[in-house]
Amino acid sequence: MYPKIALIGRPNVGKSTLFNRLIRSNRAITHDRPGVTRDRMEGTVKRNGRTWTVIDTGGIHLDENHDATEGPIELRGFEAEILRQTQEAMSECVALCLVVDGRDGLLPFDRRLADYVRRSGLPVLLAVNKVDGGELEDMLTAEFHELGLPMVAMSGEHGFNMRGFEEDLQSLLPPEDEWEAKEEEAGLKIAMLGRPNAGKSSLVNSITGGNRMIVSDVAGTTRDSVDVTYSIDGKRYTFVDTAGVRRRSKIVDSVERYSVNSSIKSSTKAHVTVLVLDGQEGLTQQDKRLIDLLDERKTPFMVVVNKIDLVKQNELAAVKKVYKDALSYSSHIPILYVSALTRANLKRIIPLAEQIWSECHVRVPTGLLNRTLEAIVTKQQPPVVNRVRPKFFYMTQAETNPPTFVFFVNDADRMKDAYIRYMERSLRKMFKIEHAPVRVRFRSSH
Ligand code: GDP
Ligand code: GDP
Repeated sequence: MYPKIALIGRPNVGKSTLFNRLIRSNRAITHDRPGVTRDRMEGTVKRNGRTWTVIDTGGIHLDENHDATEGPIELRGFEAEILRQTQEAMSECVALCLVVDGRDGLLPFDRRLADYVRRSGLPVLLAVNKVDGGELEDMLTAEFHELGLPMVAMSGEHGFNMRGFEEDLQSLLPPEDEWEAKEEEAGLKIAMLGRPNAGKSSLVNSITGGNRMIVSDVAGTTRDSVDVTYSIDGKRYTFVDTAGVRRRSKIVDSVERYSVNSSIKSSTKAHVTVLVLDGQEGLTQQDKRLIDLLDERKTPFMVVVNKIDLVKQNELAAVKKVYKDALSYSSHIPILYVSALTRANLKRIIPLAEQIWSECHVRVPTGLLNRTLEAIVTKQQPPVVNRVRPKFFYMTQAETNPPTFVFFVNDADRMKDAYIRYMERSLRKMFKIEHAPVRVRFRSSH
């Protein structure tokens, strides 16, 4: 994973304009990736030999996945929501960029945000945006000096000093060798999600046994979430954000408010996510929402149904059917039935995580891509829509993680869902991507 820097700030200061500039090289793709929670976007910045991830915290756009148990956004006001997103960014970023609007001047909430980010202990850059030309710089930045943060002025829209801005951001990154050493030390990062009492910490304990070491406290979190690293056969694995492993304060955990939005957070810090479900409790509405959300966000993940020792032998088939049916539209998502107690199937979790992660990085050679398109279309022609049959020109692989395939077609709007699903199934088969997420896109071209 690359180091991350988040753009934070009030709505309309120009965060998404800056974001789009920063990710210019792969804009088309990231644009397709507003990821379900429309409140944040991630993109890759490749510049001066360095690669990093920029996060646009987005501000206050309401999204349909907003979790009602967290309280309605309107009531708490947008300021609370921005602080929440900032808090979230702090836990996964190496640095923060506070964006302000040079034309609006310094507003009280900017001041509050500045205090907030300063306390994070992370390196912070103050970006005074909408300085549309060098001649405006002194005038529009004057007020902001009092915040006492390293400052840069630029214009996301007109491009003034974008280069200086990029360089300043890059200087906040940890040295590359240091970062890589740390990544290597952690190995494959795995996040365990799921309701309290599903058995997440029991699973981590059973899998890691006596070989584990607890590496870090996550600063600033109220829960005792820690990263647990362990090694087996000379390879390292880290369970990120593992709550309850060290101090097994069950009372805290069981009263802990469980919400879909907050629990999905750990998955952004991991390579692969394990969604732990309680096999005895059955599949709840919230479990289903989590599955859908992870699937829509193209998170590499598996479903692990735990406590299978509590399911009677004669009920096992029926229980399995429930999970299989729930995933029938996303049949690539693997399901394991395990028991932290009896250790049944525990050995399969890590190799499966490895497989998923390696499939995320499949890169298909051009020759095979072209043969594949022909094979798909020859085997089953796309259905005629409004008396016209969609015509494919060629396909490319635009990205890995997740593997993203773009089809160039005469009219992208004529693609039928059933045919898109057929195409995805065919791609998975031909490219041997069994369990990783895959993205299929269509572009009109003539
Ligand atoms: P966000 O809500 O912080 O993501 O802000 P946006 O990127 O959506 O920008 C808000 C508005 O400010 C839009 O109308 C942009 O066109 C405008 N804007 C963004 N950057 C600049 C800039 O550098 N100069 C000027 N003059 N306008 C800008
Ligand atoms: P967490 O809140 O998701 O971390 O769940 P815990 O790991 O604390 O487990 C909650 C409860 O379920 C504890 O009482 C565990 O002993 C129990 N438990 C966890 N895994 C299993 C399992 O595989 N079988 C059985 N029978 N009980 C389990």
